[in-house]
Amino acid sequence: MRLFGLVNPKQRLSPYEIGVVSFAFLLAATLFYLDTFTDIQSALATLYVITLLLSAETLTERGTLLLAGVCISLSALSYVAGHGLQGDLAAALRLTVAIAAMVITCLLIIRNQRARLALIKFNTDLQSSEERYRTIFEQSRVALWERDYSQVRALLVKLRENGVSDLQAYARNNPDFIADCIACIPTVAANAAALELLGHVDARNVSSMRRYIAQDDATFLELMVAIFNRESSFEGKGSIITSDGTTRLVLLTVGFPEDVANFDRVIVGMFDITEREMAQKALFEAQAELALASRAATVGALSASLAHELNQPLGALVVNAQTLQRWLDRDPPDLAAVSRSAERIVRDSQRASDIIQSTRSMLSERTPVLESVSLADLVSETQMLMESELAKNRIAFDTSETPGITAVSAVRIELQQVMINLFTNAVQAMAATPEQHRRISVTIELAECQSVSIKVHDSGPGLSPEVLKNLFKPFCTTKATGLGMGLAICRSMLEARGGTLTADNHAEGGALFQMTVPIEAVHE
Ligand code: ADP
Repeated sequence: MRLFGLVNPKQRLSPYEIGVVSFAFLLAATLFYLDTFTDIQSALATLYVITLLLSAETLTERGTLLLAGVCISLSALSYVAGHGLQGDLAAALRLTVAIAAMVITCLLIIRNQRARLALIKFNTDLQSSEERYRTIFEQSRVALWERDYSQVRALLVKLRENGVSDLQAYARNNPDFIADCIACIPTVAANAAALELLGHVDARNVSSMRRYIAQDDATFLELMVAIFNRESSFEGKGSIITSDGTTRLVLLTVGFPEDVANFDRVIVGMFDITEREMAQKALFEAQAELALASRAATVGALSASLAHELNQPLGALVVNAQTLQRWLDRDPPDLAAVSRSAERIVRDSQRASDIIQSTRSMLSERTPVLESVSLADLVSETQMLMESELAKNRIAFDTSETPGITAVSAVRIELQQVMINLFTNAVQAMAATPEQHRRISVTIELAECQSVSIKVHDSGPGLSPEVLKNLFKPFCTTKATGLGMGLAICRSMLEARGGTLTADNHAEGGALFQMTVPIEAVHE
């Protein structure tokens, strides 16, 4: 009942309040009667303040103002009724005193009412804030504790005052220290998530954390050190033992209050990170295994690469050694031919050694030696290296170069390896091609982006769509004894220096491989 905003807003007035207000109005009426119809020569009207005071708690500010107005009007009315408009000085003074008393009382009541309302509002806000905090505390999925750290803080302060400066050392020398500290940290409250974390325990069983903190848990001591060092917060990873004896890894966060008096209600948060830590551990293990596997794969790839690349010079060595033997076996021995074969043996041995060297430098990431290489010279040198192979298979070999091509800066042995691979593949691909049609054509021309292109076209069967798709992937081979590493190695070798290697079928038949070599090599 609001009564036009005159009465305090609450559900209903209590009988006591109704009695008090009724009495106040009765008093006002009695005063009015006495003041108007009797001859009492005193400032009776002053007593209207009692009416105001009695109604103060029940009426609103507006109600109080109205009542004060009514009381002042009644006093004025009594004055006019008793003394007429002329009046006498004494009566007028009494009226003035009474009105002043009523005005002052009214102002004091209003001030009081405002202070009271402010206090009520403050209390209501405080209460709803507390309720909000409680709701968050209770419903949070993070395990939260309210712990009383005041005793343990006092203990630590005392130790400091007694000259302890290194708490870790003190704890080592006093084996009971940790247990003593735990014992003087009672739990004030714990939320549902906290009870769940400890293994769905009852709230009554967590008044002390003694049985839940692992004996060897260094984090608790670190927490004590943080309080000892007057830090403002603490964060650390620890382990707790749940009611069924399992160990859970937790991330612990504690914010210490600025006001020492509030150490009796410190909020402690715990996040269960057991699964995360396990996953991380598994990840580290998997990574270690992967590193091992990839080392094994590197060794495997290296051996495959070496086996592949050394095959050619070693094969040539054997052929040349056999040839040398034959020249020696002649009667008389052809020493000039022997010397030529010996030179070839030296050359092939040197190449084998260079291949090993270059593979090692690739692995050890040593800066390779760049030289100025004329690609036309390199093609003819490679053709000479393979001359017995080409002749044996009756393969015609031609090279054309657009004039004005400058030398490139490259690692010579790498480019030669690529060429040997491309030529050997071409030779092998033409095994079924009629002898008179076997041909390898090499074209050297300027390409885009400051590079030179070397195209190798053969007259073999070309590349099937399936092979074309996987050509540069390791272990892609159609040969019974092939490794399928050659083209993969060639491409990565060229790309490492800023070049490219692509393959397609030529419009006139046969496979067409194109390598590009930048004029200025790129350093990795
Ligand atoms: P490998 O020679 O050990 O098989 P490569 O990586 O050098 O490994 O070649 C992969 C495959 O590409 C070969 O097995 C072959 O099927 C195909 N290939 C390569 N060059 C040619 C070519 N000039 N003509 C047809 N097929 C080719």
